[in-house]
Amino acid sequence: AVMVAMSLATISEVYGELQRAAGSAERLFELLAVESAIKAPHKVAKLDESADTVIAFEQVHFSYPSRLNSAALADISLDIKKGQVVALVGPSGAGKTTLFELLQRFYDPSLGEIRFKETPIQQLEPQHLRQQMGMVQQQPTMFSSDVWHNIRYGRPDATDEEVILAAKRAHAHEFILDLPEGYKSYLGEQGVRLSGGQKQRIALARAILKDPEVLLLDEATSALDAESEFHVQAALNELMENRTTLIIAHRLSTVIHADMIVLLDQGRILAQGTHAQLLEQSELYQRLCELQFDTSDTERGR
Ligand code: ADP
Ligand code: MG
Repeated sequence: AVMVAMSLATISEVYGELQRAAGSAERLFELLAVESAIKAPHKVAKLDESADTVIAFEQVHFSYPSRLNSAALADISLDIKKGQVVALVGPSGAGKTTLFELLQRFYDPSLGEIRFKETPIQQLEPQHLRQQMGMVQQQPTMFSSDVWHNIRYGRPDATDEEVILAAKRAHAHEFILDLPEGYKSYLGEQGVRLSGGQKQRIALARAILKDPEVLLLDEATSALDAESEFHVQAALNELMENRTTLIIAHRLSTVIHADMIVLLDQGRILAQGTHAQLLEQSELYQRLCELQFDTSDTERGR
């Protein structure tokens, strides 16, 4: 029974990655090629639960295997403390999404080290590391399964009551009940068509159920109608409370409220600090503010 449970967990993990990758074909091939390079440690380290620094990047360099001659990230050093909200800003192609991918160890850095609660992430079980993180993306993936499964993906052992509670907190419960078969309605390619805002609320319910240590948000600019934007924002704010959060921010309003802002450009950190500090230090930052950070980050569907 234990063997079966383990292999199911592995399958769902790989499946999740394929689903994530399915957005773009080159990503899929990349993941298939690279996944084997991500090695579980021989000896698993124990996390220091009292660690004050939750995430640390130390002089991290990274190039995608298919583009070894150009650095997607270069010399990235960051210290993120427990409970901080950190906004990542910068033009399209700056390396923001790549930073999220390295943090979840979909790739290993070419140089440097990433630590989670003071432990190098290479010394953690990749599965265990990813359990600590919840991600809400701009265009969340819906799995080819019913609503129950789509939300429970965040924590497979959750009860029906817990799933419903998470859906309520994500302001998804109402519209789910209006679907042809409620929570049994089939989603994904062949399933019920959901609006962008509805998909986001399902993804949010998934994250709420998972209750992760670290929240990773690829903030939405997509055309949510005003009402669902209001609900999504309210639920997000609640989820972020007292939780270490990294936001790829597209909105000035989010950035202003962040504890720290990291400005990325061409894979490098140009500046980090508060809104006021960055306004003073960086012309690029001033320009991004004028554009409200809307740098159309969606060209590859991410
Ligand atoms: P951002 O999220 O800030 O828009 P990304 O992290 O997506 O930027 O991209 C950073 C750089 O890495 C860009 O030059 C981009 O073209 C490149 N890149 C992103 N994904 C891949 C990939 N799978 N293979 C090769 N290059 C990639
Ligand atoms: Mg991106």
